Amino acid sequence: MHFEAVILGGGFAGRRAAHALRRTGRKVALLDPSPVTTMLPLLPDLAGGWAPDEIAIHPLADLLPRNATLIPEAATAIHLNKNRLETANQTLTFDQLLIAVGATPNLRPITWSRERVHVLGNLDDARRIRRDFAAYLHETDTPRLLVSGTGYTGLELAVSLHVRARAAGKPCQTTIVDLNPILLPSLPEKQRRHVLDFLTAQGIEVRMDAAVESLDDRQAVAGGRIYERPFFCWTIGSVFPGIQLHGQTETLRDGRLLVRPDLSLPGHPNIFVAGDAAAVTRRGQPLRKAVNFAYYGGRHAGRNMARRLAGRPTRPFRPMDLGWVVPFQTTSVGRLPGNIWIRGRLGVRLHHLMCGVRNYSFKNFAGCVKLAWKGNPT
Ligand SMILES: Cc1cc2nc3c(=O)[nH]c(=O)nc-3n(C[C@H](O)[C@H](O)[C@H](O)COP(=O)(O)OP(=O)(O)OC[C@H]3O[C@@H](n4cnc5c(N)ncnc54)[C@H](O)[C@@H]3O)c2cc1C
Repeated sequence: MHFEAVILGGGFAGRRAAHALRRTGRKVALLDPSPVTTMLPLLPDLAGGWAPDEIAIHPLADLLPRNATLIPEAATAIHLNKNRLETANQTLTFDQLLIAVGATPNLRPITWSRERVHVLGNLDDARRIRRDFAAYLHETDTPRLLVSGTGYTGLELAVSLHVRARAAGKPCQTTIVDLNPILLPSLPEKQRRHVLDFLTAQGIEVRMDAAVESLDDRQAVAGGRIYERPFFCWTIGSVFPGIQLHGQTETLRDGRLLVRPDLSLPGHPNIFVAGDAAAVTRRGQPLRKAVNFAYYGGRHAGRNMARRLAGRPTRPFRPMDLGWVVPFQTTSVGRLPGNIWIRGRLGVRLHHLMCGVRNYSFKNFAGCVKLAWKGNPT
């Protein structure tokens, strides 16, 4: 089957691109194996059982413009030089392509059985953690949470589960380990100290320079120490999803595809990449993986696809950093535009409000506002 424009992925980037292509009246196909789209920043709340799934999800088909056909399948291979892609069931050809498939948890370094490993990359992962952690708390009188990875996902998840255990009357010994020597190295010392002091006050141990060495049914070994029967979470970064790319590309270590300023792939002016799948560099550094960059990058890629279809020149993407917040139940650390640093409950509220603003229906928006208003307990 042939489409003038094909979009891979119905996340923030893919959906925005579909809407940007709406006015062209061209036939667009959007491929995504997931029937619902998920507000990923709410995953730590969902995993800890602090928010209902309903406010974080929406049927993808309801969010697409009329000219877009949803194909509920994953792309498995892209032949960049032949304008062709494959799924398990069919082959599609295209004039313009957008790769907006996001990122998935990085499982490459894991050499032990994955059965006891919990990751947090999508809604199913959050549901699994919530279910398994509840069962774990039920089974044991001395719960032990071990989280590998001190990125934002690891820290948020650790706090969310640690507080959940306490709320369930089963206070938990929690340790977060990371191979890196410094916690949150991109933060100024003062903000880093704030996060560390908060974690310590919660009774959460942070061990830097410590890697997980093994994991089996009985124990985990991390940084030379033994952890008996831990609930184990693995949050060591995310990588480009497993699609075979035939043709030359340049990638970062995490598989993100390096793009030209107009978000097209070098040597492939009709193939664009946006969101977490793209390595967009600004002042020599790749942009972080974040909702706003995906949202505006997807919209920009869609507009450039429309320009190409109309035979007009494309324009460069000029990303604007709207800041960020990392929420930890009752406190936060974040940076607003103008290099203004914020902390405390205000940041948690802003985070949930932003989740509402970028959410997909009035019901979801209202749910996020309620969350921002009432806050999570400690
Ligand atoms: C736990 C967690 C917490 C986060 N917290 C924050 C936060 O607080 N603030 C913030 O700004 N950002 C946060 N992020 C990052 C943010 O969610 C991402 O940057 C954003 O979702 C990227 O959008 P995207 O459209 O590129 O990808 P996604 O939103 O991930 O969408 C990708 C879509 O592609 C589909 N897909 C995957 N493979 C294929 C394939 N082979 N073929 C077709 N479709 C495919 C997927 O099903 C998915 O629907 C968080 C992410 C996670 C995982």
